Amino acid sequence: MSDALRTLYQEVILDHYKHPRNWGRLPQPTGHADGHNPLCGDRLSVDVQLEGDRVADIRVEGQGCAISVASASMMSEALKGRTVDEAQTLFERFHEVVTGRSSADGPSLGKLAVFAGVAEFPARVKCATLAWHTLRAALCPQPGPVSTE
Ligand code: ZN
Repeated sequence: MSDALRTLYQEVILDHYKHPRNWGRLPQPTGHADGHNPLCGDRLSVDVQLEGDRVADIRVEGQGCAISVASASMMSEALKGRTVDEAQTLFERFHEVVTGRSSADGPSLGKLAVFAGVAEFPARVKCATLAWHTLRAALCPQPGPVSTE
């Protein structure tokens, strides 16, 4: 990755960290989950509003490092209007890219490709995926809070 591209990626992540999108709570979510990444201390709550099998609205709230907050913010933008199946597919693609098992050049990742650099920092993979794991729990409720451990 070129230095210029790396700088651009850092700017996108910092922008979402400082101004996270879709932040807050939904008045009557159809699904909710809390997630915790004890390695870093990131804590996120995800509210979703499903209409049929489509994600009509999504809100995230919580505190964490730049990677976890920016990932949550960009996830919320990427998933609004998508179906649950599309959300799962996107999560799988995202997970492959941040763990370095797949390059970001492939289809469908869009702006989320900025997280490809996380693959160089294995300790941050859980930061980048916390919001996604939490979202999955909000879509398919399981008892108890989500932990990356
Ligand atoms: Zn973190």
